[in-house]
Amino acid sequence: MTYTSNWDKFDHWLNTRNQGQDEFIQAVREIAADVQPIINVHEEYKHHRVLYRLAEPDRIITFKVVWQNDNGELRINRGWRVQQSNVLGPYKGGLRFHPTVNESILKFLAFEQCFKNALTGLPLGGGKGGSDFNPKHCSDAEIMRFCQAFMTELNRHVGPQTDVPAGDINVGQREIGYLYGQYRRLANEFGGTITGKPLEFGGSLVREEATGYGVIYFTENVMSAADDKLTDKRINISGAGNVALYAAQKAISHGAIVTTLSNSKGTLHIKEGLESTDLNMIISNKESDNALKDAADEGVGEWLARATPWAIPCDIAMPCATQNEILLQDAQRIIDNKVQYVVEGANMPLSEDAAELLHASDLVYIPGKASNAGGVAMSGFEMSQNAQFEPLSFGVLDQKLKDTMAHIHSQCWEDGFAADSDQVNYSRGANVAAFRRLADAIVAQGY
Ligand code: GLU
Repeated sequence: MTYTSNWDKFDHWLNTRNQGQDEFIQAVREIAADVQPIINVHEEYKHHRVLYRLAEPDRIITFKVVWQNDNGELRINRGWRVQQSNVLGPYKGGLRFHPTVNESILKFLAFEQCFKNALTGLPLGGGKGGSDFNPKHCSDAEIMRFCQAFMTELNRHVGPQTDVPAGDINVGQREIGYLYGQYRRLANEFGGTITGKPLEFGGSLVREEATGYGVIYFTENVMSAADDKLTDKRINISGAGNVALYAAQKAISHGAIVTTLSNSKGTLHIKEGLESTDLNMIISNKESDNALKDAADEGVGEWLARATPWAIPCDIAMPCATQNEILLQDAQRIIDNKVQYVVEGANMPLSEDAAELLHASDLVYIPGKASNAGGVAMSGFEMSQNAQFEPLSFGVLDQKLKDTMAHIHSQCWEDGFAADSDQVNYSRGANVAAFRRLADAIVAQGY
């Protein structure tokens, strides 16, 4: 087969060996397109085939998870850990429990995680894992038995210098506690093998808030570089998990007007802006599926069943729910509504065609691998607190988070200008800056 360009050759290789893994192909293509020009002028990157090596996980561990429900029936799920690259540090990334989880989704998340972690400047490799287990409607005892069964297999593949999992969708402090407990029993070791732990046994202050706060700190950096500010800006946030709720909290405290939150059932629309006290009520009820609808029933805004936030006019659209949540028609509404900024709290929330449309428009687009890196950065700080047996204060950690987001912003800014443009492209900047760090480490370490 003859190829017209290096890109075609890579694209053919990628598609052939990952057939049916659409999310993974989407994530790799997005980064590959931006870094191809850098590879073309770096013989050593070509020679070491860095892009090919990054796009092939170091290993994928797949395992069976058998657990017992409260009726005594055995249930069988599938578990995975994708160890994508440890060239910059131990594999690091969350665990997701959701019925939609499959190998393609975990591979895309693990691939993106390598780039996100590289941007933090910390010694963190990239990985991701999880299960197709659906924890909704499970009892606490069922969740515990599932987590124990999952860790009974995973424990042999993780460790503080090897692979350090954390939470992600449906894996919060409760699940982390059960996973960690089982790891501690089996490994006979109390160390920093998992992050996102409760404070009582090695968790870090600010971990729960870090992703959401980091999204807002990053947004502030973007806005101040554009001589703009957050005060009085209307923000539509999707999602109702930690990322969405703490982004909303920080945005409100900085004078922004948060007009929506959402979940898979609909959108809570608060025209005049969410009040802190109402947000606190939602946060205290966040484990409930109906937290947003309950708030509307209490008189907080209007509940729009089955709607997403994207048709509602705003200045900043902040998708904080899940991958591919903004489709082509949503992106068109966002453009028609003259939204100025799209800032991603979730990982890859734009479908491929929505991303193309938004990239071609003149709004400012901020990719999640830059703006949501605050969560994993705080995990990195949890690892160092665990290694030093010394917890840090909220204020110190919050400042470290702000500094990290400013550092990520400056890297994206420096690499974000194309030769022929005077407008920064944050997506390109994030991809190129992260790729450089990974590629240089791969070259330096040989093969
Ligand atoms: N799941 C989070 C992310 O997507 C955090 C990962 C971690 O803390 O290791 O970045």
